[in-house]
Amino acid sequence: MERHSSWVRKTTGAMTITCLMLLPLLLLVTQSAFNTYLDRLLPHVIRERIGKKFTSITVKEISGTSFCCHQSYSFAGWKDGSLTPRDDDDDDKLLGGLLSGDFDESSCLSRYHAVSYWKNPSRPPSPHLAAKLRRYEALHKRCGPGTELFEKAIHHLNSSNHTAGKPTTDCNYVVWVPSDGLGNRIIALVSTFLYALLNDKILLLHLTDDFHDLLCEPFPGTSWSLPQDFPVGDLLNIYADPPWTLSNPQNAPYLYLHLTHDQRFSAHGFFCEDSQLLLRSFQWLLLRSNQYFVPALFRSSVYEKELKLMFSDADVFYHLGRYLLHPTNSVWGYITRYYHAYLADAEQIIGLQIRVFPSAPISSDQMLAQLLNCSWQEGLLPEVMIEEAMNSSRWKGNKPKAVLLTTLYSGYYERLKSMYNEHPTVDGEVIAVHQPSHEEKQHTEERNHNKKALMEMYLLSFCDVLVTSGYSTFGYVPQGLSGLRAWILVRPDGGGESVSCRRAVSTEPCFHAPMGYQCIGEKKRKDGEEEAMRCVGKCEDVAGGLKLVS
Ligand code: GDP
Repeated sequence: MERHSSWVRKTTGAMTITCLMLLPLLLLVTQSAFNTYLDRLLPHVIRERIGKKFTSITVKEISGTSFCCHQSYSFAGWKDGSLTPRDDDDDDKLLGGLLSGDFDESSCLSRYHAVSYWKNPSRPPSPHLAAKLRRYEALHKRCGPGTELFEKAIHHLNSSNHTAGKPTTDCNYVVWVPSDGLGNRIIALVSTFLYALLNDKILLLHLTDDFHDLLCEPFPGTSWSLPQDFPVGDLLNIYADPPWTLSNPQNAPYLYLHLTHDQRFSAHGFFCEDSQLLLRSFQWLLLRSNQYFVPALFRSSVYEKELKLMFSDADVFYHLGRYLLHPTNSVWGYITRYYHAYLADAEQIIGLQIRVFPSAPISSDQMLAQLLNCSWQEGLLPEVMIEEAMNSSRWKGNKPKAVLLTTLYSGYYERLKSMYNEHPTVDGEVIAVHQPSHEEKQHTEERNHNKKALMEMYLLSFCDVLVTSGYSTFGYVPQGLSGLRAWILVRPDGGGESVSCRRAVSTEPCFHAPMGYQCIGEKKRKDGEEEAMRCVGKCEDVAGGLKLVS
């Protein structure tokens, strides 16, 4: 016994010494493998800045799915652009490095709190995207309104000396001009931000009164709001007779770019490679759009490499939307109060969004039938037993499922609620139907109306499943924010005679009107260049539309 324990002591001692001797070697090997791995992941500049200190940054998970031939990965990002690794709590709150930690949390509660309401686990951005956003924030802070460089750029805009739009500093701007309803505005805003990121331009918003107090400032220590005394006036009406456009760029102080579905005014050559290169040299661009033109940027060879590094899946809106679109505290209060009053205790939340377009009319009977067909066939909602008496009890005993219905009208709510109240469901589930508002008519010019629309988009994004209306940009927003693939109701003019709805192939919005714009399909199918074509596909809901596909 005595001999045995002394042998154990000796052996253990020898093993400990051997381990201690081997440890530095082991660390060296691990770090060098890790460095090689990071070398592949990180952009050159960041690699240089990190130097040899990245042993403390943890790579959490590597998976092999591909989008445009690119590896997807998840990575614990950096804090405040300082490349300091974060702890896990920070990581969740900052969406894996997507958000900056440089804000006062109380000034915009939704920025860090919304993540606890979204149902599926959040996917972190690529390290390249996170680093790019931190660099963008620094640039915006340096060039944004109120800075000396901004004043210089305004001075240049006002001056008469404009040789081929040559900027005087490296501060260049793209001004977003709103068009149409909130959904249209948001998808165009996200697209314009991606364009700004890709071209190192500063995104500024022409904030009309109806758009004030909806969204928080997304960039720390600066503002994205175009100052009221901006020298170019009447931005909403400039489209009718713009002095400087892509077809008339000589000696222009700025260029006006119209990228809407309305081809009469549109800058048709915007997506062509030579236009993209030319636009880089203009210090001021004014861009009006109601479209999600991101898929067209993916088809341009100018951005191919950069986009591959920034996005590892068809999740541009998911990341950039979660980065940019934070409801202000007044809207967030509205969202959270409604959520906790009506939805929080439900076993599951089913989001239904009904949008009827004057250009594709449908009766409310038909619309309701289509909605129920889709929800029942796809097993999203239980069928009701119409013949069974109102008082028959088939309650399963579990918590109710909640339907969150959003639409401009009140009739659908009454009918759905009565149906589920008056008849038992086939599986004994109890369905509670809720509708936050019924505005009856679109009133985009009213701020409170827009606040309600934003509230409902956000509430829909907190659902477990989504059924949205085809063609509706309103429905694209919650789909993109939540990262859920919705079931999309086919519009009456969308060839839906035999099918009520189609499952979205990705969570991305559709670029409705690429027709008329030149060069979107120009990317040559040379060896190794086919990927950009492959990640852009057809939309489920809009004939001729384009969307990013997984
Ligand atoms: P789209 O026309 O469906 O592509 O979406 P938009 O959001 O661009 O324009 C529709 C506008 O009508 C919204 O912005 C709202 O102002 C209003 N609207 C449409 N559906 C709803 C709804 O379900 N709830 C609320 N609150 N407003 C809606």
